[in-house]
Amino acid sequence: MSRSKTRLTCIIASFALMLAGALALSGCGDAAPEPAPEPEPLPMIDPDPTTPDSIDYLALVNKQNPLPSGWEESIQTVTVKNSLGDDVEVEAKAYAAYLELKADLEKDGIHVDLDSARRSVSEQQRIWDEFTVTYGEVYTRTYVAVPGYSEHHTGLALDLYLNIDGEDVYLNEDMVEYPEIWAQIHSKLADHGFILRYLEGKEDITSYGYEPWHIRYVDSPKIAHEIMDQGITLEEYLGAAIQMPAAA
Ligand SMILES: [Zn+2]
Repeated sequence: MSRSKTRLTCIIASFALMLAGALALSGCGDAAPEPAPEPEPLPMIDPDPTTPDSIDYLALVNKQNPLPSGWEESIQTVTVKNSLGDDVEVEAKAYAAYLELKADLEKDGIHVDLDSARRSVSEQQRIWDEFTVTYGEVYTRTYVAVPGYSEHHTGLALDLYLNIDGEDVYLNEDMVEYPEIWAQIHSKLADHGFILRYLEGKEDITSYGYEPWHIRYVDSPKIAHEIMDQGITLEEYLGAAIQMPAAA
């Protein structure tokens, strides 16, 4: 426990330094530019420079493909509190990108927060076991993701919620009442390395219903644009879409 706490503190410190660096570089105001100093390496840009990209940001985790082995030992995460007071754990680079996305949306008066992000396999197993005892296996299979097969294990899948006129809107049935706001959010995802994961009309490929709030970090804005601009799923982009049998 203390080891992971220490690591978390390091990550948070790195972020603070990174943000301070970014602010310094962005040069707010119109002050005369300082003479350009000798460029120095920025060691804090990566959350942990000793293990850059130790995970595959394009990893496919769905009902057919489990979390790659070794993932949970490799990822670096940050834990933050949302406006509802819940702790949300997110993969470190995905969180930095989320903050950029959030700031970008705020320029348009759109306010989002993180409902949930990472769930460990053991946490999912605990939920699975609890549901099995309470509701039986048939119900559990229908409504709970099989431990190991949820994209939320990656830490790269984020469920957003909205804040509209100062009110948090986080229930699924309420959030779907704002399609224009989601459309604006979706139009900015790719610039920050995110894609919309469960598309309307692609349920037969993703095996999930449309979820405007579930976004997935793929790291590269270029790849994110290739996916979003074509309106395709991650499965299709990776050539991993399960072929539906042709109609007779
Ligand atoms: Zn989700």
